[in-house]
Amino acid sequence: MNKFLQTDIQYLKKIGPLKANILKQHANIHTYEDLLLYFPRRYVDRSNLLTLDKLKPNENEAITLIGKFSQFRPIKNSNHKNRLTAIFSDGSGHAQIVWFQGLDWIQKRYATNNELYMIYGKPDWIQGVPRFTHPEIEKLDEEGDYKKIVPIYPSSEIFKKNGMDNRFFIQVIASLLEISKNELVEFIPQMIVEKLHLLDRYTALRYIHQPQSITDPDYGLNRFKYEEMLAFQWIMEARRKKYKTQKAPIFEKVGNLFLEFYHHYLPFELTDAQKRVIKEIRKDCASPYQMNRLVQGDVGSGKTIVAFLIMLLAIDNGYQCALMAPTEILATQHFYSIFHWAEKIQVEVALLTGSTKEKQRRYIINGLRNGQIKILIGTHALLEDYVQFANLGLTIIDEQHKFGVEQRAKLWKKRSDLYPHNLVMTATPIPRTLALTLYGDLDLSIINQLPKGRKPIYTKIVMESQRLRLFGFIKQQIHQGRQVYFIYPLVEESLKLDLMAVKQGYEAIQRSFPNTLVGIVHGKMKPNEKEAEMQRFKKGVTKILVSTTVVEVGVDVPNATIMVIENAERFGLSQLHQLRGRVGRGDYQSYCFLIPKKINPTTQKRLEAMEKFSDGFKISEIDLQLRGPGDFLGTRQSGLPEFHTINIAHDTTIIEQTKQIIRDFIQSGYQSNDYHLFWDFISHTERKMQLDRINA
Ligand code: ADP
Ligand code: MG
Repeated sequence: MNKFLQTDIQYLKKIGPLKANILKQHANIHTYEDLLLYFPRRYVDRSNLLTLDKLKPNENEAITLIGKFSQFRPIKNSNHKNRLTAIFSDGSGHAQIVWFQGLDWIQKRYATNNELYMIYGKPDWIQGVPRFTHPEIEKLDEEGDYKKIVPIYPSSEIFKKNGMDNRFFIQVIASLLEISKNELVEFIPQMIVEKLHLLDRYTALRYIHQPQSITDPDYGLNRFKYEEMLAFQWIMEARRKKYKTQKAPIFEKVGNLFLEFYHHYLPFELTDAQKRVIKEIRKDCASPYQMNRLVQGDVGSGKTIVAFLIMLLAIDNGYQCALMAPTEILATQHFYSIFHWAEKIQVEVALLTGSTKEKQRRYIINGLRNGQIKILIGTHALLEDYVQFANLGLTIIDEQHKFGVEQRAKLWKKRSDLYPHNLVMTATPIPRTLALTLYGDLDLSIINQLPKGRKPIYTKIVMESQRLRLFGFIKQQIHQGRQVYFIYPLVEESLKLDLMAVKQGYEAIQRSFPNTLVGIVHGKMKPNEKEAEMQRFKKGVTKILVSTTVVEVGVDVPNATIMVIENAERFGLSQLHQLRGRVGRGDYQSYCFLIPKKINPTTQKRLEAMEKFSDGFKISEIDLQLRGPGDFLGTRQSGLPEFHTINIAHDTTIIEQTKQIIRDFIQSGYQSNDYHLFWDFISHTERKMQLDRINA
């Protein structure tokens, strides 16, 4: 790293130890470079220069004038509300200026000379005369010019109290830029700079801190977005490459179990997309290096059978498999699907979760060690040290954004000699750019097709006033033998209130459907009670299931055709889409009704997207745009790095371009010692984004 740019900011003129400490503590600005990278939050555009005769009567947009002050008049007022007025003339007319603060200082400063000034502000109008209150004022420079675009830096009380107002930042950054000019050397490899037509850092910083036009900052910012993303993509690509040097078992043959199941027991014909993805995975596993592949597919696209067939491939080649899911319910669901398939060909499957009984657990531990259990399915419990395999060859993680890279890695490290192949399945389809970002170290397979004959789920926003009519329709459906989910939100922050709402909802629904058996499931119930309620619903004993989001990843009930979501505005779009995916699994037309409690334009838009679209990828893209990446992924443990300049919802072109460029660059056979500045920058970025902490 450049030594000069890493100088402590306390040595900068006009800063000193006191201000430096505040900047360090409150803005994370430690070095010259940090200060240069302290970007304005917004800009004031003062380029709209007018003359007073051109001013439309009652105009109230902010405008800029150039002229002189005269006739200063202090006005004393009994209740201490003194003010100062002046006349501002630009040769074409007059305006009144008024100040309420700093009166002496203003008068001294502007009354005594006959200079030209620029003023900028929003006029109000007194009897046809424009008046400006506390306008921005700037003396014209020697060329008769003024600053058209003013950067506004993030500000805070503590900054202002210590003499660090906006003007301060403009000035110190200007003087820092001046002395940094020759230090800001290019560190991005020349071929990349040329390909992307990147501005050099100094020019880019000038565009950001001292723009001449309102479009300059974006040009400047682009340079930093590119460099940030280039570093990030490099880190991800390097990891991807590293995995590909990690020795893994070779699944070379397609064996008896696979063939027997495929030809005799496959319950349906695979979609072309499923077949393609299986092929992609098989190719990876036939090589002696670790596979790390993400399988994405919409709800119901059939990821489970893909996982199972790959497991058979592993088992045929003499290896065991582990499948980890984020919740007990999801793990259990996977266990049942896979168990039914596996028993046809006498493959032993076990389920291990936090609530597995001690005796069963001992049996499992033993069965894994002696290799009798071929498939282990479970929750985080799989990560425990006592879980040891005879010959683990494949790990599958059903992720739903809940596992971090560390956990993925922990599962592979169940073996010391070889790295098991690793599949990650996302329960929520995410837009391509986000996948490239979040899972940039993985190869990507997409199941972009649903099984034949799936009917789109009719989706409708239902207002409270239409509830009775909706219930009438539901009664008809139940009469025809169908089943219904009622979903309530449940979040940590309002746990008590939410639980109450579910229970009250349950009672109200029992009253509204007096001759119907209604079940209830929520997160505070014991796992075995939950499971029993789910099973009652699955068997068709209960016709209505009232539930919190636990069914999001819950049981597969083809006879359930109606999904009612209460307080629908509180759910994320992707979550609504997941929930909706619980119906439409059988031959009947299915419905999803969204009942909002409070609605505003944004939530309205979100819910309308549900009415309009059935494609999960499309929906998650809209969700990302409307909510931003943080909320989209859930606040905690999103696994998303903190970007300084990149906005992953909007900078999709940059994300994709840099990915390609980095791949090409790696392909190009560069000489690694030519680029030490670039490597420095990359490791600096890795530390800054704290990516080194999740170094797999
Ligand atoms: P998801 O991708 O959401 O995990 P699942 O694997 O749970 O989807 O599959 C959803 C349903 O579709 C299951 O009942 C599964 O058995 C069924 N299914 C999967 N693939 C096909 C297919 N090719 N044809 C018909 N049904 C399928
Ligand atoms: Mg699934």
